Amino acid sequence: MTDEIKAYCMKCKAERVVSNVAIVTMKNGRPAAQGVCPVCGTKMFKFLPKAKAPVAESAPAAEPTAPTEQQNPA
Ligand SMILES: [Zn+2]
Repeated sequence: MTDEIKAYCMKCKAERVVSNVAIVTMKNGRPAAQGVCPVCGTKMFKFLPKAKAPVAESAPAAEPTAPTEQQNPA
């Protein structure tokens, strides 16, 4: 299940919920959503914030930043 992603359609000059969304990863590692406008069919593209990347397939195993030792209790 994919979250609805809104992007601005250049052709409709309006914000649309992207249809046929596919999450892709840019060469620089940034996630982006690709899809088409549900109204006119124009291709749409939108960068996604890293925090909201829905797919975790190729994501590196994030180390849990558990506070094991408090070095500098400010
Ligand atoms: Zn459109």
